[in-house]
Amino acid sequence: MSVKIPRGTQDILPGQSEKWQYIESIAKEVCRRYHYKEIRTPIFEHTELFKRSVGDTTDIVQKEMYTFEDRGERSLTLRPEGTAAVVRSFVENKMFGIPDQPVKLFYTGPMFRYERPQSGRYRQFVQFGVEAIGSEDPAIDAEVIALVMDIYKSAGLKKLNLVINSLGDAESRNAHRAALIAHFEPRIGEFCADCQTRLAQNPLRILDCKKDRDHELMGTAPSILDYLNEESKTYFSKVTGYLDGLGISYTIDPKLVRGLDYYNHTAFEVMSEAEGFGAITTLCGGGRYNGLVQDLGGPDSPGIGFAFSIERFIAAMEAEGIKWPLDNGLDCYIVALGEEAKDRSVALVHQLRTAGLSADRDYQDRKMKAQLKASDRQNARFTAILGEDELAENRITVKDMAAGSQENVPLNELAQYVKTKMEAN
Ligand code: ATP
Ligand code: MG
Repeated sequence: MSVKIPRGTQDILPGQSEKWQYIESIAKEVCRRYHYKEIRTPIFEHTELFKRSVGDTTDIVQKEMYTFEDRGERSLTLRPEGTAAVVRSFVENKMFGIPDQPVKLFYTGPMFRYERPQSGRYRQFVQFGVEAIGSEDPAIDAEVIALVMDIYKSAGLKKLNLVINSLGDAESRNAHRAALIAHFEPRIGEFCADCQTRLAQNPLRILDCKKDRDHELMGTAPSILDYLNEESKTYFSKVTGYLDGLGISYTIDPKLVRGLDYYNHTAFEVMSEAEGFGAITTLCGGGRYNGLVQDLGGPDSPGIGFAFSIERFIAAMEAEGIKWPLDNGLDCYIVALGEEAKDRSVALVHQLRTAGLSADRDYQDRKMKAQLKASDRQNARFTAILGEDELAENRITVKDMAAGSQENVPLNELAQYVKTKMEAN
């Protein structure tokens, strides 16, 4: 019996992988313009890191982590998200000492969560994320939101809804927490077992429950926006004011609470409104985490970030029917006939590649017709045919596949010829 791919994972094959590269390249280009630099952290971390940052009571820590013991009996976890490691690295490398704050970072790579696989939900998925750590200027919140909207826009996505909320500071959250407990406690027996635990541990997360979302108490739950103190209110209106100024539209949703424990003040999500996107419409989640650096042993350094998965990004592109601007073609395919021509084509294909062109040839000792078919299949822009007659004259026949014309050029000028023709197009 053959071994199959693990559940909830996928192979990304040629034809698909170009889409991934395309989205990653757009995201990196937007990060360049906003002056965010790449950070690469390990795929696994000490389990403790996620317990302390993501939070002991979250679904991620309680149900979704790939945790294992290594041969040295340390408990390690495949990273379920990116922020914890970036903040760990910020503290460990004393990035708070860098004169220019915030430190603006982006990352991309696989994340792992033991979830029930379905469309848009995998056990290994790739996130692209950004963190700006070291400033509490609301302009940074607006910058981070503008950055992610810019990435989506650059890819051509239009049917998006940016949803934002404020979770306030600690004082506001405590007041809201008390109100939530008073609201849910008398009837908590009607809620799921998870919500019953949440009531004592983190009642805010009851609002995020997927099982009890239709319970009547959900609709009437106290809104965080009514519990924001003056400072938190001012902060939130600064953020929304900046977004207005940038012409970025958004919806305020006081019920938006993010799944992770470390958020405060600004929380946001980007949803796809494309028809046929499916049940899970969240493309991106982000928010401010002012206590996290301190929780992980650093100074009181405030941060904000977001992450989206490439999987859901691609699904949104397809739901909106956006054409992928991918160039899968080959510049030149060499058809070689006869032993000597085949030998010559080793150097010839190499010269084309050295000149910066994409080039390929036959390696199956096929007849002319089959080689021409291969050139067609590979979408070659030019097909260069080297037969005995051409070889005798040190020339090669070059077919322009788009124009349908052909020319006979000196062998040693092939690369230059194809290059000039390509540039003329
Ligand atoms: P959800 O409510 O969909 O479970 P989440 O709150 O767990 O999302 P975050 O931890 O905020 O998600 O992750 C940020 C983004 O990463 C999500 O908005 C989504 O685009 C993506 N994402 C999260 N989990 C998965 C997954 N299992 N497969 C693919 N993408 C995912
Ligand atoms: Mg989740």
